[in-house]
Amino acid sequence: MAHILLIDDDPFQLTLLSSQLAKLGWEPVDGCMSGPEALALLEVQASGEQVIFLDLNMPGMDGVEFIRRLADLSYTGALVLVSGEDARILETAARLARAYHLNVLGRLNKPVQPELLRTLMEHWYSKAPAPARKAPKSYCAADVRRAIVGGELVNYYQPKVDVATGALKGVETLVRWRHPEDGLVFPDQFIGIAEQGGLINDLTTVVLLAALKQARRWRDQGLVLRVAVNVSMDNLAQLDFPDFVLSQVVVSGVPAEDLILEVTESRIMTDVLSSLDILTRLRLKHISLSIDDFGTGHSSLAKLRDIPFNELKIDRSFVHGAGQDNTKHAIFTASLAMARQLGMTTVAEGVEDQADWDFLRQQGCDLAQGYFIARPMPAEDLLGWLADWHARVELAPSRP
Ligand code: C2E
Ligand code: MG
Ligand code: MG
Repeated sequence: MAHILLIDDDPFQLTLLSSQLAKLGWEPVDGCMSGPEALALLEVQASGEQVIFLDLNMPGMDGVEFIRRLADLSYTGALVLVSGEDARILETAARLARAYHLNVLGRLNKPVQPELLRTLMEHWYSKAPAPARKAPKSYCAADVRRAIVGGELVNYYQPKVDVATGALKGVETLVRWRHPEDGLVFPDQFIGIAEQGGLINDLTTVVLLAALKQARRWRDQGLVLRVAVNVSMDNLAQLDFPDFVLSQVVVSGVPAEDLILEVTESRIMTDVLSSLDILTRLRLKHISLSIDDFGTGHSSLAKLRDIPFNELKIDRSFVHGAGQDNTKHAIFTASLAMARQLGMTTVAEGVEDQADWDFLRQQGCDLAQGYFIARPMPAEDLLGWLADWHARVELAPSRP
C-alpha cells in the first residue's frame, strides 16, 4: 500500500490537499507540520513506495534543507514539490532535488489544481513498482455493471505518432472508471471482472461507441486520426461482432480502416481457431486489426501469417531501454523485421524517454506511443497536448 506524506506548516493546506487526494481515491495520507517531524517519521518508515508532498516555504527547516536531508536518508520514493511562490523557484528546487538523485514526480503551485494532481498521481501510479500501487480494491461484477450502465466509464486517449516525422497519426482508447468514491480506477482492476461476469460485450460497446463518436468529432475539427480500441477474446467469440462493429462504424461516418481493433498477443495465441473467422470477417469489412503487447505471447510465425493483422505493437518490455540492452535490442529488431516481412505497420509501445525515442528513429519503426510522447488523456486535452508536442519535436518533412 502506498504511503502518502504531506509536509506543510499550514494546517489548512494539509487538510485541503488530503481531501483533494481522498477525492481521487488516495487515502489514508499522513500530514506533518514541519521538516523535523517528517524526518522522524521517515527514519522509521521510509520506502520506495512513498510519495511525499513537500511545501518549500516553511519556518525552521525549509523545503530546500529538507530535500538535502531526504537525500542523506537515501530516500527512493517519489517527491512532489509544492509552493505558493513563483514557478521558477519550484523549478530550481526540482533541479536541486534531481541533482541529489531524488525522484521528483512533479511540482504543484498553490492552490493545487485537482486536474494536475490527478494527472500526477496517475503518472506515479502507472510507473510505480507493483507493491506500491493502491491495494487493489476488489470489485464485483455488479459494481462493474453499475459502472457501465451508470455512465461511469470514460475513455482516455493516448497519442500514436509517426517516428520519422513526429506527426500525430492516431490514438489508442484506454478505458477508465471514474468511481464516485474511489477516484480513477484503471482497467487492470475491472476488465478481468467484466470478462468473467459476462459484461465485456457491454463494456466494449460503450467504449467503442464513445471512441467512434470522438473520432468523428475530431474529424469535424479537421483532425483525421485512426482510433484504436482494445477488444477482448470474448468479443471475438461473438458471431455477430463484425456486423455490429461495422454498423456502428457506418453510423459514425468514420472510415472502417480508421478503426483499429487491438487484440493482445498472449490471449489470441491460446485460442486462434475460434477467433480466426471473426478476425477474418472484420478484415473483410476493412476494419484494421492490431496485435498488441507483441513479444509476450510466444506466437509462432505460422500463426501470425494466418491472421490478417495490419499492425504489430511491440511490447514495452522490449522498447524502453532497448538502446542500452542487447537482449531487448535483439528482440526489438527481430520483431520489427518480421512485421515488415508480413507487411504490418509497426508500433513501439512504452517509449518513456528521449533515449527510447532516439533509438526508434535509428531503427525506423513506423509509430511510437508512450509517456515520452504523452500519457493517456481525456479527449478534450488532445489539442492542447498537440500544440506542446509540436513545440517539442521538430517536425521533419513527411516521407513521400
Ligand atoms: P494495452 O492495450 O497494452 O495499453 C497500454 C498500456 O500501457 C496502458 O495502460 C497505458 O497507459 C500504458 N502505457 C502507455 N505508455 C506507457 C509507457 O511509456 N510506459 C508504461 N510503463 N506504460 C505505458 P492502461 O491504460 O492501464 O491499460 C492496461 C490494459 O488494459 C491495456 O493494455 C489493455 O490491454 C486493457 N484495456 C484498456 N482499455 C480497455 C478496453 O476498453 N477494453 C479491453 N478489453 N481492454 C482494455
Ligand atoms: Mg492496447
Ligand atoms: Mg499494449
